Amino acid sequence: MTTQHIRPRDDLALMEGYHSPQVDVPVRLNTNESPFPPPPAFGERLAASVAEVQWHRYPDRAASELRTRIGELHGVGPEQVFAANGSNEVLQTLLLTYAGFGRTVATFEPTYALHAHIARLTGAGVIEGERDDEFVLHLDEVDRVLAAGDPQVLFLCSPNNPTGREEPRALVEAVLERMTARGGLLVVDEAYGQFASWSAVDLIGEDTPLVVTRTYSKTWSMAAARLGYLIGPAWVVAELDKIVLPYHLDVLKQQAGVIALELAEDMETRVAAVVAERERVMDVLAQLPVDVWPSGANFVLFRPRSRSGADVWNSLLQHGVLVRNCASWPRLEGCLRVTIGTAAEDELFLAALKEAL
Ligand SMILES: *Cc1c(COP(=O)(O)O)cnc(C)c1O
Repeated sequence: MTTQHIRPRDDLALMEGYHSPQVDVPVRLNTNESPFPPPPAFGERLAASVAEVQWHRYPDRAASELRTRIGELHGVGPEQVFAANGSNEVLQTLLLTYAGFGRTVATFEPTYALHAHIARLTGAGVIEGERDDEFVLHLDEVDRVLAAGDPQVLFLCSPNNPTGREEPRALVEAVLERMTARGGLLVVDEAYGQFASWSAVDLIGEDTPLVVTRTYSKTWSMAAARLGYLIGPAWVVAELDKIVLPYHLDVLKQQAGVIALELAEDMETRVAAVVAERERVMDVLAQLPVDVWPSGANFVLFRPRSRSGADVWNSLLQHGVLVRNCASWPRLEGCLRVTIGTAAEDELFLAALKEAL
């Protein structure tokens, strides 16, 4: 008898998962992690708190202390904070709550692939708007997408991954006005918010349908911890709390999140160092035969002019430098994305790039 394997849902059967190949090389500049670990005090305090954990008890389901501390960081109360296992789980919970079958989600491409991917997983339709050749988003394109797709949820990403560009405040305000009038939800993904020149957190209020998502993965040097959150109106957070699995945040993660916030000054120092290093790398790239776009994040998108992106990516890899290969992605033909590393890592990258070009 031959066994018949059950097939996945028809609407998912042809989908590809999210891929970010991990290759073991000396210089890993492909996933926008922080090049610096958290300070030693982080590990010491976390180790001390492990000894206190009551392992036979469920963790605080509301993650009250974590939410309170995150709220303090942003000048809001805990009822305006929702935390989950990475900002990806924050996005998933948002989309389970506000997208799903019969609803539409708008993205503006190229942008973070998981916005559309998770929306589709929930059964929602996705309408993809476009940016211009310089990856700038124009308001008339937003209006076209709103008219054509009637989306309930609209994503902006600022700074945008993978282009690095920040959305101007005026554009975000104009989009927010439109989503408010329509009774929709605007999600601004600020995974790279601390590297940028402004934040949409200032626009959050109880009467505005805006949430801003953040992550511990990039700025807080805690990609391994899987912790992210959003700031938004209390009525949104209350709905998300109904949808997310109970006790989704384990006790150690809650403590890790609180301890990291106690060391916020160290984070700010690391972020400032990365921003200064980003400007240095940009200056060097400007002298090379590559197109490069402005970045408000901890990475830079560039396109080699003299050779194909794929060839340059391979050549960098042979020099032990791994960058993100976007060369075959729609709208990003020939582009590579490099994460800002330590000065030493960036030197190895720039030297290898010069040779490759
Ligand atoms: C890295 C990234 C995330 C994912 O963050 P996690 O908290 O690690 O899940 C979300 N959004 C954008 C734009 C990112 O680049």
